[in-house]
Amino acid sequence: MSGGLADYATIPPMTSKIPWLPSELQPGQKAERCPRCGAIGFIPWTLRRDRNLPTPLRTWVCVNCQTTQERPEPDV
Ligand SMILES: [Zn+2]
Repeated sequence: MSGGLADYATIPPMTSKIPWLPSELQPGQKAERCPRCGAIGFIPWTLRRDRNLPTPLRTWVCVNCQTTQERPEPDV
């Protein structure tokens, strides 16, 4: 009953884009320059609250290379 090993072979290679991450800029979306690939496509994405931190963390994602980066987000 351990046939699940083959499932690992279906994980796509790193070069594939991750479907649930943004892969294109929305019209009017303000974007910054990506620290990794240099494209203007680094956008604020999800907000994560950590009770150990004074400010929530905003996950930024590059729509070009899908690098993610967490930055503190000041309360509004
Ligand atoms: Zn990038």
